[in-house]
Amino acid sequence: MSNIKDNLGKVEQQIKNACLKSNICPSSVDLLAVSKTKPASDVELAYQAGQRLFGENYVQEAVEKISTLNSLTDIAWHFIGPIQSNKTKLIAEHFHWVQSVDRIKIMQRLNEQRPPELGKLNICLQINISGEESKSGAALNQLPALIQASKACSNLVLRGFMAIPEKGDANLSFEKMHQLFKQYQLEIPTIDTLSMGMSADMEQAIHHGSTMVRIGTAVFGSRN
Ligand SMILES: *Cc1c(COP(=O)(O)O)cnc(C)c1O
Repeated sequence: MSNIKDNLGKVEQQIKNACLKSNICPSSVDLLAVSKTKPASDVELAYQAGQRLFGENYVQEAVEKISTLNSLTDIAWHFIGPIQSNKTKLIAEHFHWVQSVDRIKIMQRLNEQRPPELGKLNICLQINISGEESKSGAALNQLPALIQASKACSNLVLRGFMAIPEKGDANLSFEKMHQLFKQYQLEIPTIDTLSMGMSADMEQAIHHGSTMVRIGTAVFGSRN
C-alpha cells in the first residue's frame, strides 16, 4: 500500500504554507525527495505523481535504482551521502548533482572522472555549520580554499551549499548558512542553491532562505 502521492501533496502544501508565512515565492523552493533505502518502485510512484528530483545516500544502491529507472530520463539524481574516494567515479558517471562535496580531493576526482558527454556535474559544498566533531561537511575556515579549487574544475558547476545543522541550534545555523549563501552569490554567479531542511525542520529552513528541502520520511514513510 502506498501513500506516496498523498504524502507528496501534503509536503508540497507544507512548503507552500511555509513560503507564504515568510513572504517567499513558493516557486523558489525545490523539493528533493530522498529515496534512500526505498525501492525503485517507490521512486516510480513519486515520479508518476510529478516528482522529478530525487536524493540518494548510498552509491551502490543508487546506481542500481538509476539503472532500473533509466527510461525516466527527466529525473535529476542528487547524491547527498558521505563520499569515499573509491566511489567518486560511479558518482560522476551516474548523478546530475552531488551535494555532499566537502574535500578538495573529492572535488578534483569528480571533475576528472565526469564523462564529458554527460555535461557538467552540479555540485554543492557541504558545510559542517554546527561544528560537530563526528559530522561530515567542511569546516567554515576551509570554505575559501574549496571555492578557489572549484574554479579550476571545468567539468563541475558550483551551485551552492548544503548543510545539516545540529537540532539544538538549527535556527542559528540556518541563518549562518543564509548569510554565507548571499555573500558568495555576489561573487559567483552560478550559485543559486541553498540546500537545507529535512522532514522535521523544513519550515524553519525555508524561513531562513532554503531553496531546496530534502525530504525522505514525510514522502516515503519511515526507514527501517
Ligand atoms: C536521509 C537524509 C535526508 C532526509 O531525511 P528525512 O528526515 O527522512 O526527511 C535529508 N538529507 C540528508 C543528507 C539525508 O541523509
